[in-house]
Amino acid sequence: MAGYDVDLFVIGAGSGGVRAARIASSYGARVTIAEEFRVGGTCVIRGCVPKKLLVYASRYAHEFEDAVGFGWTGPMPTFSWSTLIANKDREIARLEAAYTSTLDRFKVEIVKSRAVIEDTHTVRLADGTRVTTDNILIATGGWPHMGPKIPGLEHVISSNEALDLPELPKRIVIQGGGYIAVEFACIFAGLGSEVTLVYRGENILRGFDDDVREHLRNEMRKRGITVTCGQTVTAVEKSGNDYVTRLSDGSAVGADKVMFAIGRRPNTMGLGCENVGLKCHEHGGIEVDAYSRTTVPNIYAVGDVTNRVNLTPVAIREGHAFADTVYGGKPTRVDHSDVPTAVFSEPELGVIGLTEAQARDQYKIVDVYKTSFRSMKMVVAGRDTRCFMKLLVDGSTDRVVGCHIVGPEAGEMIQIVGVAVKMGATKADFDATMAVHPTVAEELVTMREKSHSYGRQAAE
Ligand code: FAD
Ligand code: NDP
Repeated sequence: MAGYDVDLFVIGAGSGGVRAARIASSYGARVTIAEEFRVGGTCVIRGCVPKKLLVYASRYAHEFEDAVGFGWTGPMPTFSWSTLIANKDREIARLEAAYTSTLDRFKVEIVKSRAVIEDTHTVRLADGTRVTTDNILIATGGWPHMGPKIPGLEHVISSNEALDLPELPKRIVIQGGGYIAVEFACIFAGLGSEVTLVYRGENILRGFDDDVREHLRNEMRKRGITVTCGQTVTAVEKSGNDYVTRLSDGSAVGADKVMFAIGRRPNTMGLGCENVGLKCHEHGGIEVDAYSRTTVPNIYAVGDVTNRVNLTPVAIREGHAFADTVYGGKPTRVDHSDVPTAVFSEPELGVIGLTEAQARDQYKIVDVYKTSFRSMKMVVAGRDTRCFMKLLVDGSTDRVVGCHIVGPEAGEMIQIVGVAVKMGATKADFDATMAVHPTVAEELVTMREKSHSYGRQAAE
């Protein structure tokens, strides 16, 4: 479009924005991308990547202890938080540079500035510069939600700060029961902090399979994490260098850090949505159709800002599909069903498909296969950690509709199982696959005994 400064203006250089910009440019579009913080976005700078590096670090303590059972002796190595954070920061800087050079290579212009939508074809930068554009893509991600104002909220940190603390906390209280709260509770516990997890509901990880939630909560408790359910944090009081965290039952927990991980909200504040009449859902996400087009025809939105499935690979797919649709002449919808996911807890959790409760809602007959066992490695290590696996099968077609794994490398396993489930594999296909022995994963193809089978008609 010769009349505009650029063909596409992307707001936000995170997972979705970077992919969309690169692909649109490869189709010949003139693309500018604005980033107010650092290129790479949440995933690279303060999400998946730094988090996973801390997860790796947190697992060594148990590995060192477990090695004794395998004949290793010697003094326990010591841990340096500052070394870990410095190395993590170096890796993030490397990735940020790699993302930047990819955008440069694809001739995407990067503007290091906040951008605001002024009208349907104009974006305003922080210095007042106006850029006119044919299309706008909003890829501004999400931001930690800190909940209602409670006394002492100013002392509370979010995952943003937790990844950059000057020191490892000796005692930390974490409020929340979702991905971030569970992952950070396991990280800090693994590194030696005393951790109290405070969750408002009956059990952590609402939305996951009930057996999995119970299994993981028990394993977290075995690792010394205090999991307190049915409570909220009502106040945080400063006491010297520490804090007193008041809970809704009137009890108090001391800590040197208090963190909230109680969800994230789409990053739309001050973006100028009202200037163009963009519609948002009641949960705050920008409303889009299957092609990520908003209610304004030349404005699109991808990733967490749309609050569909808030995961990096999903944001990337949505960004790519947008570019294929608008610039590549290939209208592409993203399939948001059966997205495999992992919680990098200790032990790890990997999931694809339905929970048992969802399967029972959707299918007439549901066959349930499950197993809980101590792996060979844990037996010899003398550690009381158990794996858990569960397959949910549509009893009418034999198709596997859900797979849940708690155990070492569950995230790696579910990526592969995900292919089979997405292809529509049946339980008979799983059974026909030869086991790889001795592995933890072999249990997935050797479960023969149904633990139970539900027939909705029988129940009716
Ligand atoms: P983002 O990556 O958030 O990028 C948005 C960018 O827009 C940001 O860089 C922001 O600075 C910029 N921006 C915002 N407003 C403006 C503006 N007005 N002008 C200019 N720039 C702006 N997902 C997984 O799949 N696996 C994981 O293990 C995982 N771990 C996570 C751990 C944590 C602690 C967190 C917080 C998230 C994690 N996620 C994980 C989720 C994942 O990070 C997000 O789903 C993903 O980053 C979303 O990508 P996005 O492109 O929508 O937005
Ligand atoms: P989640 O939505 O996963 O969990 C939020 C938690 O906070 C829930 O337990 C919720 O309780 C609780 N909560 C919400 N509001 C309040 C409140 N006012 N007071 C007390 N508790 C409250 O959000 P997270 O922040 O953990 O993570 C955000 C998203 O980032 C995830 O959903 C996921 O999409 C992504 N992510 C993915 C990761 C991965 O792939 N491994 C890792 C980290 C993040 P309730 O259940 O009762 O509503």
